[in-house]
Order: sequence, then C-alpha cells, then structure tokens
Amino acid sequence: MKYYGLRNQGATCYLNSILQALFMTREFREAVKSCSKHHKDDINVRLNTLFESLKEKTSETTEVTKTLRIEKVYEQQDAGQYLEKILSDVSDEASEIFKGELIHRTVCDQCGSHTDDEVPFFFLSLPLMDSKNGNYSVEDGIQEFLKDVEFCGEDQMYCDECKYKCDTTIKYKLKLHPEILILLLKRFEYNYHRMSYSKDSRAVDVCYTIDLPENQTYELYALVEHVGSLTGGHYTAIIKSEDEDRWYEFNDSSVTLLSDHRIQRKFEKSRSAHLLFYRKKRIGSQDEEQNGERRAEEERWAVEERWAKEERRAIAEIWAEEERKAEEERWAEEERWAEEERWMG
Ligand SMILES: [Zn+2]
Repeated sequence: MKYYGLRNQGATCYLNSILQALFMTREFREAVKSCSKHHKDDINVRLNTLFESLKEKTSETTEVTKTLRIEKVYEQQDAGQYLEKILSDVSDEASEIFKGELIHRTVCDQCGSHTDDEVPFFFLSLPLMDSKNGNYSVEDGIQEFLKDVEFCGEDQMYCDECKYKCDTTIKYKLKLHPEILILLLKRFEYNYHRMSYSKDSRAVDVCYTIDLPENQTYELYALVEHVGSLTGGHYTAIIKSEDEDRWYEFNDSSVTLLSDHRIQRKFEKSRSAHLLFYRKKRIGSQDEEQNGERRAEEERWAVEERWAKEERRAIAEIWAEEERKAEEERWAEEERWAEEERWMG
C-alpha cells in the first residue's frame, strides 16, 4: 500500500500528525466510516471523507479544520489538545477504541476505609523525570503515574468514618485497558516562575512493548514527535504500517520509508517523542487463558444452577409430602365428624 501526506495550511503540522496516526488506526478508520452513514455534517463525515481521499492522494485538511473551528491555521497548536478534541467529538463507537478507565482509590491510613472514583481517559499523561542511571523510559513514566500518593501533614484529607482529617493514600488502578493506549509525554508544562509554558526536552527511551498491571502487553505502532520550540516547532508522525510491518515518517505532504537504523535512533533517548500509540497485544496463550477462565466461570454457574434445581426439587417434595399429610388429616377429621353425626343421629 502506498501512503500519502497531508498538506500544511500554514502551521497545521500538529493536526496532520494526529490525523495520520488516526488514519493508520484501522479500527478507528472503520468505526468512523460506519458512523458517517448515520450522520450528515459532523466530524465523522469529515474524517471519513479525508481518510477515503488519503487512500488515493495527498490530501487537504481544510474541511476538518473548519469542523474543528480552527481559524488561525498559521498558529501552532498543541497536538495532544486537538487529539482530545477529536476523540471527544467523534461518535462513541469510534472513541471507545481509545477509552480506558482508571480507579482512584482514596484510603484512610487510620481506619482503612476507602472510596473509589472511576475516571475515564483517552490518554495517560506521563511525567518526565531525571533518571538516576541515565535511562529514563516510558515504562518508568507509567510506574511513576500509577504510584501511590500520600497526603499527610497539611495535606491530610477528611475521612467520613473517622470524622476528622487523617493521613490518606491515593492508589491508582487500571480498571479498563483500552484497545489502543495513547501515552502523552508531558513536554509542555506551565512554568510558574516564568509565567509561561515551556518545553521539556529531556531524553526518554521509547519502549516498543510495555507491560501494564494485570499482564496486559501493548505494542507501539505510532509516535508523534515535536522538534524545536513550543511556538515555532514542528510536528511529524512515525507510524508502522499494519499490513507490511514497516515504519514510515509522515511529515506533512511527504511520506518516507524509514530504515531500521533510523527507527532505532528515533526510539533511543528521544528528546522529541510526544504522543505514543500502543495497540493491545493478543497472544495465543493469553486468549487461551481467558477462554479457560471463562469456561471455569461457566462451569461454576452450571454447578450452582444444578444445586439450585436440586434444592427446588427437594423443597417441592417436602411440600408435596406435607400437602399429602394435611389431606389425610382432613379426611380423618371428616370421617370423625361423619362418625359423630351417625351417633347423634
Ligand atoms: Zn478513617
């Protein structure tokens, strides 16, 4: 398959990069296509039209920017922000592919009681940090993100059970693993000293596969990069083709095949990796395991069902027996009455 680029309207490389990543996400492309049949004039239709055009030629994004209400096409914007906007605007069927759910569990250190908040997400924003051994990786970022947070001293939180402020721990747990996991490396942070946003260009090792808690493995297939300064920089996307297992660089209207050597260099100590797209990996054994679990569950249900049935039958027998006894007693009673009546008569 030949891939085509997207023309830059001025400074719309941020949009082009995420549109290419979305185009190369087959599940998303198909969902948008099926949803665009029921809608008329919304983002699903615009994206579907663009995706159909991208299959054949270098394409324009003017209709998409109009629908997203982007007027200043000469101004650089934040790719993460617009990715979130697109995913919030498309149909649920299309956005569901990226939707995960986190549980924030607030635990009182005093009495151990807890409350859970379910927090849906389209991407996880990972903090960048200085590494001790010189290799800070995306997996370190995930660990840092899911780390327990303690609130003590002045930050103590009110506990409904204890009725006063206690030391509190917030724990994070992934409740729902999305089909496609997007990670955002926090490169643009508000600096309170300088009163403006600044870019964090620290090096990060981009992991090709990552393991999340509960044994879920994900595999990288797209990477949006940002080089240069916050306002004047440039976005590009590096995406693996699903059909041929090769990586391409999408730089506005140009698309180039990347050599293994260049790919390697893109992943190691990257100072520009910004948005990472990972696909849930299905391994045979894992499916097997899940099937096994499902079968065990079904078996448990069947056993319970059998017990319930036997119990019902036993109860029915007891009732029948009691009914029979009561009937006999009624007969005996009536007989006694008849006997007495005969005596009277
Ligand atoms: Zn408490």
